[in-house]
Amino acid sequence: MNSYTSFKDTQIALKNGKTTCVKIVENYLKNISEKNSDINAFIEVFSDEALERAKQIDLKISEGTSSKLAGFVLGIKDNICIKDHKVSASSKILQGFTSLYSATVIERLLSEDAIIIGRLNCDEFAMGSGNENSVYGSVRNPLDMTKVPGGSSGGSAAAVVANMCLATLGSDTGGSIRQPASFCGLVGLKPTYSRVSRHGLIAYASSFDQIGPLTNTVEDTALLLEVIAGKDKMDSTSSSVQVDDYSSFIKPVKRKIAVLKDCLEREGLDVEVKQKLESTIQQLQDDGHEITYVSFPYLDFLVPTYYVLTTAEASSNLARFDGVHYGYRIENPENLEDTYIDSRTTAFGDEVKRRIMLGTFVLSAGYNDEYYKKAQQVRRIVQNKTDELLKDFDFILSPTSPHTAFEIGKKKVDPTVMYLEDIFTVHANISGNPAISIPLYTHSNGLPFGLQLLSKDFTEKDLLSFSSEIMKNFSE
Ligand code: GLN
Repeated sequence: MNSYTSFKDTQIALKNGKTTCVKIVENYLKNISEKNSDINAFIEVFSDEALERAKQIDLKISEGTSSKLAGFVLGIKDNICIKDHKVSASSKILQGFTSLYSATVIERLLSEDAIIIGRLNCDEFAMGSGNENSVYGSVRNPLDMTKVPGGSSGGSAAAVVANMCLATLGSDTGGSIRQPASFCGLVGLKPTYSRVSRHGLIAYASSFDQIGPLTNTVEDTALLLEVIAGKDKMDSTSSSVQVDDYSSFIKPVKRKIAVLKDCLEREGLDVEVKQKLESTIQQLQDDGHEITYVSFPYLDFLVPTYYVLTTAEASSNLARFDGVHYGYRIENPENLEDTYIDSRTTAFGDEVKRRIMLGTFVLSAGYNDEYYKKAQQVRRIVQNKTDELLKDFDFILSPTSPHTAFEIGKKKVDPTVMYLEDIFTVHANISGNPAISIPLYTHSNGLPFGLQLLSKDFTEKDLLSFSSEIMKNFSE
């Protein structure tokens, strides 16, 4: 057997000589070749390169010179740059574009001897909740091929649950790591804003975007965060707060947990999701944790605030894709203006165009105060309220998503229905706090779903320690 669902098991097998990095990679490549044509998670597989690297790392292991992630095989969302490889954010507009440098997260992974096996499908420019807005087509949920894997990091979630690699990196602007993690039964972490460098991440909404891991276990998420987090001179917004040893968990202590009443009472929340969460809350209380139901009166404002601010930032970030500088250009344009207009018209998908237009509108002279400025003010109120709650509590608990994975095609017809998918996840991106989705439950429909915890800025060590404890005590 060369198939392991945690890095710890992988390491034990490597150490006991039961496997080698080459065998592990071969096994993943086999799974990819068997499953990927149906699942559509990988858009490019680095077969030769991954095998060659596995060989080198096997050698390092035998010489006793290998680093922390030797034998860790990862897939990378297609909005994170890897030098000399194509990157497209799943958009036609970046067709043919090759990265000139690697994202800082990639350099950090490689310097610890991780192996990168390929690039993963996602929603175009990370805009979506079902991985249905990709130029490469929809990703299917390996647990039920009629359902979405979640979005926008759908390929990142599907690849892990289908055992096509051990873990992946995704990006989370409004829930794109946590919601797919919930839909595919994985751990998904959005770190504190600025904890992980965004250098080499194709920007969607710069003041919201964060890179983070999707894994089978909390331990693997902690280990990956330890490697990718920290100050980076290439990203001036990255924080110089010291990186903790996230993977050595704090021993269990009694916690103060705020449960967001408004989320549990929310219309549209699946009855079973609610019941199962409530039973965990009861168990936590029985175990001696202090539970308080608190009100969060801003729930209805989160999604509108998120979409005003992120589309504003997106309209500016995506202005650089003009048919001249990168990737796709329309053939035989008449003049410069046509080059811009026709290239963008042809190569951006509908959702991206919708957001560019919405963002341009909310920033326009007559409407700036009414929308953009107001949304900034709401953002501040949400941040203050969150800080206030976290003065009294260690964690804020809520569902990750209102339900389990939905059918491919079902929600795409109405963008506002799709936008409401993010109702519980956008909070952490608006406020900047770290948040995690932990895969505790299986619904009677057979699909998994997660519980979400949010904590104070830069308290990932607490968040991960507590998550690991909950996983041990409460997973079904
Ligand atoms: N689903 C959300 C959106 O469409 C979140 C995307 C993300 O986190 N990248 O914007």
